Amino acid sequence: MKFQAIKGTRDILPPDSALWNRVEQTARDVFGTYGYSEIRTPIFEQTELFARSIGAETDVVAKEMYTFDDRDGDTVTLRPEATASVCRAYIEHGMHTLPGNVKLYNIGPMFRRERPQKGRYRQFFQIDAEVLGQSDAPAIDAEVIEMLLVFFERVGLRGATLSVNSIGDKNCRPKYVELLREELRKVKDSLGPDSQRRIETNPLRVLDSKLPEEQAIIETLPHIADYLCDDCRAHFAKLQAELKLREISYEINWRLVRGLDYYMRTTFEIIAPGLGSQNAVCGGGRYDGLVELLGGPPTKGIGFAIGTDRLILSLQDATKDAAPESALDVFIAWMGEKSYAPAVQLARQLRDAGYAVELPPEEMKFKKSIGLADKLGAKYALIIGEDEVASKQYSLKRLADGQQNKYSMADLLQHLHGARAS
Ligand code: AMP
Repeated sequence: MKFQAIKGTRDILPPDSALWNRVEQTARDVFGTYGYSEIRTPIFEQTELFARSIGAETDVVAKEMYTFDDRDGDTVTLRPEATASVCRAYIEHGMHTLPGNVKLYNIGPMFRRERPQKGRYRQFFQIDAEVLGQSDAPAIDAEVIEMLLVFFERVGLRGATLSVNSIGDKNCRPKYVELLREELRKVKDSLGPDSQRRIETNPLRVLDSKLPEEQAIIETLPHIADYLCDDCRAHFAKLQAELKLREISYEINWRLVRGLDYYMRTTFEIIAPGLGSQNAVCGGGRYDGLVELLGGPPTKGIGFAIGTDRLILSLQDATKDAAPESALDVFIAWMGEKSYAPAVQLARQLRDAGYAVELPPEEMKFKKSIGLADKLGAKYALIIGEDEVASKQYSLKRLADGQQNKYSMADLLQHLHGARAS
């Protein structure tokens, strides 16, 4: 029997894993400068938490959750997203009593049983950030977006575009949804089966449709911007002023409604190049009222989720022609019984000084050692034979051009530091 990773899951192998670490570390660094701290929530939660927050009519809850009966009869679900868990934790730990806004981020795997394709997996990873508190000031929304763009800039994502929208609140959205439903019923026969079903279950989601034959019809539908209540209209106008203040370019996409029910007012999305149809690398929005819906005190909230898999694909696409940078600094080519002990000591000293070192566990002929050092992409081979041991002068060979010099241990470190700095 041959085992394979389950469909829609994948292994993240070296050297890709180094890029993953860099991306996640950059998120930690950037989010830290905006006052966010990390929260780690469980991978599985009570099914009802997701059903109630994401919405029973959404694809995620209706079709995509990994749900199973626990042995004691409870039904539990592998988390399909992070916001519900963060809100659950916020309530459970009484975080509303903390001073100021509570700013949290969460990094980890999510699970949705979608049809796998490039950029869409059943176990995928998100970097998620949330702001919870008493204020719904548009400056919070704008700062969240600013932080996101600083992060994308810092990881080197180029050509990303930001779309924003407002989808109203509980005062104005229901009226718009009803109007949309009426308009959609009139054109029902020209729509595909998914959209036809959504007219009744979740008409906003029809606006998400990517089907080419539905686009002309969708363009004739009423825009929510024309139906926002005064408060939502003012909030959206202020958000745009705040984005301009921060010199953030954006476009308004009136069809940006997002797949999860809990969003209200501000929604936003970031599209990145090189990804084909799965090109949304980040989605987010405001969800005032979600904490209350889950049994907590009245609380405002806004957040986003970055799809790390897609972000990495886009970064790789942009650098696919660049030669990979090797992580290995020094390969120690030792030969002869007397060379082994100094080789072990030198390896340790070099590693203590922060260099990545490969020390062959068994003796090899110099020619074979240098060949392997080359294949591993080492920057240098440090040659330790009996002559070197006797003189305590070690030969350092730069593999790119074969240049070779002898150094004492202290000079060797100094030389490597100098070469690293230049
Ligand atoms: P959502 O939680 O649906 O708002 O998604 C936020 C982001 O997560 C999206 O913009 C994608 O980048 C990413 N994402 C969502 N579903 C998947 C999936 N099945 N595979 C990979 N990335 C995903």
